[in-house]
Amino acid sequence: MRAFLSCLSLKKNKQKPRYQEAIILASETSSTQTSGNMKLKQKAYLFREEFHLALLRNSHKQNLFADRVFDLFDVKHNGVIEFEEFVRSLSIFHPNAPKEDKITFAFRLYDLRHTGYIEHEELKEMVLAILTESELTLSDEEVESIVNKTMMEADSKGDGKIDQEEWKELVEKNPALIKNMTLPYLKDITLAFPSFILNTDFEE
Ligand code: CA
Ligand code: CA
Ligand code: CA
Repeated sequence: MRAFLSCLSLKKNKQKPRYQEAIILASETSSTQTSGNMKLKQKAYLFREEFHLALLRNSHKQNLFADRVFDLFDVKHNGVIEFEEFVRSLSIFHPNAPKEDKITFAFRLYDLRHTGYIEHEELKEMVLAILTESELTLSDEEVESIVNKTMMEADSKGDGKIDQEEWKELVEKNPALIKNMTLPYLKDITLAFPSFILNTDFEE
């Protein structure tokens, strides 16, 4: 956590708030919050629209997943992302974060309809997102073929959908899955929200 925070401090010195108009929001200068070893002197919020704007501007990609990422970040489900939620969720994408956490987060991200399984249609959205990210265009047939092959590989229990256990096995065999699927939306997130970080002063 310390390394991560000093990384944020570095950003703080280096980054200029390029997207200020798209982001921030509100801050309460008087509140003091303790979160782990971190004291927040200010409280900042991110709203769904700003989150979308910043994510889409940086990766010009799916609203669908931006929406889902927002929901996963908004742990308390109150419609805004507080700084604590932001830091906690972002830490999952730190290179040193436990792989288990990354795998679980990715599963929840792609279980778009919250059924506890990744179904065919969700797998297709995932494949399409990867293709878009890689700037590849394939025909519907080719996409279907990839989806079917991936489903066959993943669905070891043969019920036509991927559960958490199968997902974990799939990722173990194909580590690039979480590398390529989760990071495209989040790798530039500290660049996307410089003023969010800049506006929140904290001490260890
Ligand atoms: Ca929240
Ligand atoms: Ca699902
Ligand atoms: Ca299955």
